[in-house]
Amino acid sequence: MFVCGNQACGARWKPSEVEIRNEGQGPIFRCPQCGARNAVVGRTRRDGSLEYRQVQAKHQGTAAK
Ligand SMILES: [Zn+2]
Repeated sequence: MFVCGNQACGARWKPSEVEIRNEGQGPIFRCPQCGARNAVVGRTRRDGSLEYRQVQAKHQGTAAK
C-alpha cells in the first residue's frame, strides 16, 4: 500500500492503482488525487518479479500541482 506524501491529501493507493514512472530522479508515482510525486524503489523478488516500495519523504513541503 502506498500513501500519498502530501499531508493535506494522504490518500492510500494500491500499487495497481498508480503508475510508476521514472522522470529522471528514480522511480516515482504521482498521486492520482492530488498529483504529488512520491518516490519509490524497485526491488526484485526471489521469483524474479519486480515490486515497488515507497520511500518515506521527509519534510518535502512542496507538492507539485
Ligand atoms: Zn495525494
